[in-house]
Amino acid sequence: MRKRLIVSAASALSLFLAVPASASDFQPGAAGVGDPYYPSYGNGGYRVSHYDIRLKYQPATDELEGTTTILATATQNLSRFNLDFALNVSEVRVNGRPAAFATSGEQELEITPARPLAKGAQATVVVRYKGVPSTVKRYGFTSWHRTPDGGIAANEPEAAWWWFPSNDHPSDKATYDVSVLVPDGTQAISNGVLTGTTSQAGWTRYSWRENKPQATYLATLAIGKFDVTRDTTASGLPVYNAYSKDLGENADAARASVERTGELVDWLSGYFGEYPFSSVGGYVPNVPTGYALETQTRIFYSPRQFAKGSNTSVVVHELAHQWYGDSVSLSRWSDIWLNEGFARYAQFLWSEHENEGTAQELADYVYASHPADDPFWKIKPGDPGPDDQFSGAVYERGAVAVQALRNAVGDEKFFQILKGWPTERRYGNATIAEFQAYAEKVSGKKLGDVLNTWLFTPSKPAVGPVPPGTAAAASASASPAPGADAGRDAGQPPAEPKSWKKIQETNSVHEAHS
Ligand SMILES: [Zn+2]
Repeated sequence: MRKRLIVSAASALSLFLAVPASASDFQPGAAGVGDPYYPSYGNGGYRVSHYDIRLKYQPATDELEGTTTILATATQNLSRFNLDFALNVSEVRVNGRPAAFATSGEQELEITPARPLAKGAQATVVVRYKGVPSTVKRYGFTSWHRTPDGGIAANEPEAAWWWFPSNDHPSDKATYDVSVLVPDGTQAISNGVLTGTTSQAGWTRYSWRENKPQATYLATLAIGKFDVTRDTTASGLPVYNAYSKDLGENADAARASVERTGELVDWLSGYFGEYPFSSVGGYVPNVPTGYALETQTRIFYSPRQFAKGSNTSVVVHELAHQWYGDSVSLSRWSDIWLNEGFARYAQFLWSEHENEGTAQELADYVYASHPADDPFWKIKPGDPGPDDQFSGAVYERGAVAVQALRNAVGDEKFFQILKGWPTERRYGNATIAEFQAYAEKVSGKKLGDVLNTWLFTPSKPAVGPVPPGTAAAASASASPAPGADAGRDAGQPPAEPKSWKKIQETNSVHEAHS
């Protein structure tokens, strides 16, 4: 067996050597970008700078047809490259010439250009396609949500496959023009700014532009009949919100929450620095899902988020992501704490502002609420694994980790880090290790121990997120009792903060797709 393997390897090698050097310089790009959680997501060999997505949608039948033009640059000599996509493709062109294409795996579109692409070469890739996205399942689900009057694309980490071909990984961000033709009376909503509408022969075209880098999962499309509100914030930022006309008894609570977007984005700017984008807002379509998603500049909210009344906490969460997640995006999906830990912590800050419990009280409460044998503590927010990427622990323990960081560096340095990081890394990508290096630089403190304890240890930390100088901190550091529920008032569980229930109601924020 071993001998045969050696022989075939040797013959493969001689075959390889027989290929002319010029041709062997050009290789297929990888089918995945190399994310440990999602090996097939994204692709290798090129980077995208812009998506031009031009669609026609028929709400009555859910038929979507489109042409997407991708501006890309090869990062290696490419004989072939992949896009991620799930609808039926009828034609592909690369730099004007017809290209061969084939599908493989769940969402791979393999494109072989007529002429190979040299490293550094610019490529204009045109893909023509159509489909009924609500009927197209990948890994057993569709991220296209059918509504009574249209359809919605919003999910994490996968949403793009059902409406445009892409390099589907947050490490490759690009600008977007999205233009959608819909029957008169129906609207199409996407990210950024509505640059124009034109009507002809019973159809209206809506054209949207997101002029700042955007991850593929943060691109969203909503088609349906909406009541739209437009305004500007006190600081002059355009606000565009939309509500399905058929939200029923959730309609008022949705408005009482989402209409506060302008106020809340200005409030968050005080903590995170200048808002990074040129538009803000949210939309509430009539979908049966329960989650909300921080789709860039135009947040997706399920009506169920407002089933128990207004919830400004969820609006704060999704707006916080505009800095932590959208402007500064994760480099790999394992870095999810950089998104969810901070978005949840923003809810803690909002609770504090509303006198419904301080961030410290909320952190103490989370710590005390989960006994040491609770599986909650098995999940490492700093590397939860793909199955637990959006589990409650990533949010709750993740936010406690932020409070522990605050206690370690002190308020002055903490708020400097909170504002400085999204400014320093604006429109880019980052890892937890890079965040740690930044926080250490600003604070002058080594933070490996505190971050390891709260992010990377699969057990309940022996000591709660105690502020420095408290009696509990002193006694805890003098004689830590492994596994004990040491807290500020050891022995007496803290009272439930007033904001707790509203924060819990946002826990289906990223419920699993299925
Ligand atoms: Zn979130």
